[in-house]
Amino acid sequence: MTARVLDGAATARAIREELRPRVAALAARGRRPGLGVLLVGDDPASAVYVRSKTKACDDLGLHHETVRLPAAATTAEVAAVVEAYNTRPEIHGILVQTPLPSPVDTARVLRLVDPAKDVDGFHPENVGLLVQKRPRFVACTPAGIMELLAREGVVLSGRRAVVLGRSDIVGKPMALLLMHADATVTVAHSKTPDLAAVTREADVLVAAVGRAGLVRAEHVKAGAVVIDVGMNRVADAAAAAELGPERGEEFARKGYLLVGDVHAPSVRERAGALTPVPGGVGPLTIAMLMSNTVASAERC
Ligand code: NAP
Repeated sequence: MTARVLDGAATARAIREELRPRVAALAARGRRPGLGVLLVGDDPASAVYVRSKTKACDDLGLHHETVRLPAAATTAEVAAVVEAYNTRPEIHGILVQTPLPSPVDTARVLRLVDPAKDVDGFHPENVGLLVQKRPRFVACTPAGIMELLAREGVVLSGRRAVVLGRSDIVGKPMALLLMHADATVTVAHSKTPDLAAVTREADVLVAAVGRAGLVRAEHVKAGAVVIDVGMNRVADAAAAAELGPERGEEFARKGYLLVGDVHAPSVRERAGALTPVPGGVGPLTIAMLMSNTVASAERC
């Protein structure tokens, strides 16, 4: 069996197209959704992510602005930017690009974001609402995965789901969303013994670990739906050849490959459906950030 490709990029395009009439309706009322971005330090990956998000704003006609602070910024300086965004009516969503440099108190900064503008869904108030199944803003990556599963007709009710990873931004909200969709959910992590035995129970397996190619065929039940959240840069030629044997030309051109947490060459021969990396979960995350920002402007 070769797994069906779950085209996250196509679903993300569809989500974004569906936002256009809502943006137009807001414009007719004299309102333009606005995203305030804060980028601290010079992490190249963070800069790339911010560029992708602001490009998506441009494409949809959303207002956006970015404040950049140096890596040496203090928690107080970072907090001041968030507080300024909180008070401005033309800013409907605030994006603090993480990771923040280590001296900055990330948890404190995220708690300062006005929960009504928390389009990343990281504020404790929004996490609490999700726990109670009264979602307002849901973290963009798991929210995008739920959209993909729904639009691809993947049945969740009564099925076994395993979430590999328990981060605040992916694993935990993902597990809650799957549970609220009536799946029976197991969360696995680095202390889980006999990981393959646990993940092989899954009808739907979500891998969010940040370890290139960790999930192999022996971790997957035949026919399972596998969602690969991982985004790992592999610059070692031997590892790249093993993880993406058909991507040799791309590796030669770029000197690295972006690969997921799933070992695609083996898993695609066992799974029923699989998201590609790149072109799977990443574009969905951006689409849901746009969706949350538009929804926030609609609520004002
Ligand atoms: P994270 O905060 O580092 O969490 C990783 C989780 O994986 C932790 O719960 C950790 O367990 C678990 N883990 C690590 N090694 C493991 C192992 N060998 N076996 C089992 N579990 C293991 O990562 P994250 O922020 O959730 O991100 C995960 C991946 O998704 C990264 O590659 C990231 O780049 C990617 N990502 C992609 C998008 C996107 O839009 N495409 C968005 C967000 C993240 P412990 O809790 O026990 O340490």
